[in-house]
Amino acid sequence: MKPSKIAIIGAGAVGSTTTYAILVKNIAAEIVLIDIDQVRCTGEVLDLSDALSFHRSSSIRIGLADDAKDADIIVIAAGIPQKQGQSRVELVNKNRDIITSVMKSITPVKPDAIIIMVTNPVDVMTLHAQRLANIPHTQVIGSGTMLDSKRVGVMLAEALDVSERSVNAYILGEHGDTQFPAWSLAYVGCVPLLEYPGIDQKTLDTIAESVRNKAYEIIKCKGATFFGIASCVAALCECILFNQRLIVPVSTYIEKFDVCLSMPIVLGTRGIDRRVKISLNDEEKKLLEISAQTLKAVSN
Ligand code: NAD
Repeated sequence: MKPSKIAIIGAGAVGSTTTYAILVKNIAAEIVLIDIDQVRCTGEVLDLSDALSFHRSSSIRIGLADDAKDADIIVIAAGIPQKQGQSRVELVNKNRDIITSVMKSITPVKPDAIIIMVTNPVDVMTLHAQRLANIPHTQVIGSGTMLDSKRVGVMLAEALDVSERSVNAYILGEHGDTQFPAWSLAYVGCVPLLEYPGIDQKTLDTIAESVRNKAYEIIKCKGATFFGIASCVAALCECILFNQRLIVPVSTYIEKFDVCLSMPIVLGTRGIDRRVKISLNDEEKKLLEISAQTLKAVSN
C-alpha cells in the first residue's frame, strides 16, 4: 500500500476524535487537521501529537483547505452539531452553507480521492457535496447508518446472548428519525433473524426505538456524540485504504429517489465498488419510501 494522506476538515469534537481513532489504527502516513478556528485546531494538533509516539503512528499537522487537495481521503466534520432535543434535519440550512464553503475551498480534489461526509444531516450534506465535487458521486459517501447498524448489532447480540460478530443486521434509509431496520435481511450466524429461537416482535421494536434514539440520549447526557462516529469513520478509512470490500450501509446517491440515503454497498479503494442488490419486504419498502420523501423535502 502506498503512503496515504487523510485530511480531516472540522477539528471539533467529531473531527478531533476521528483523527485520534485514525491515529490509533496507524493506517495513514500523514494526517492533516483543518478548521476555520485556527486556535482550537492548533490545540487539538498539539494534544494529538502527544499521542503519536505511543501508537508509532502517522505524522499529524495543522493545515489549510489547500492541503486537502492532494489527500487520498477527505473527512468532512465541519458544521454545527445538534443541541438537546434538536433533530439532525434542523441543522440543514446552516450546515449547507458551511459545506458549500468547505467544498469550494478544497475543490478540485485528486481525481481518485474519496470524500467521507459526517456533517449532519449527513444524507443531505452528502448529496450537496456530490453536486459540488469534481469527482464521481461513487467517491463521495456519507457515514450514514453504519453506526446505527453497529448499534443494532450490539443490541441484538445482547438480547440473543451471542457475539456481535455473529450478527449481520442493517439499519437503512435516513441517518435520522425515519431510519428503519431491515429485519427481513438480518442474520444471526446462518439463521435468518426472524426465525431465530427466542426472537419476538416486541424485542425488535424496542431495539429499533433504542437505536433511533441513542444519539438523542447521549446528547441529553453529555451534549455531543463523538466516540462512536469517530470509530466508524476510522473503520471506513481503513476499509478504503486497504481495499477491504466490506459490505457497509453508507449514504450514497439513489437515482430512483434523487436523494442520498443508506443502502448496502461494497466499499473499497475506488469508494463505492458496487451496490448490493437487496429484496426488502413490502413494509420495509414503504419505510424506505418515507425516508426518501423526508430527505427529498430537505434536499435541494
Ligand atoms: P463541533 O462544534 O465540536 O465542531 C465543529 C467544527 O467545525 C468547529 O471546530 C468549527 O470551527 C468547524 N467549522 C465550522 N465551519 C467550518 C468551515 N467552513 N471550515 C472548517 N471548519 C469549520 O461539532 P461536532 O460535535 O464536531 O460535530 C460536527 C458535525 O458532525 C455536526 O454537524 C454534527 O451534527 C455531525 N455529527 C455527525 C454524526 C454522524 O453520525 N454522521 C455524529 C455526530 C456528529
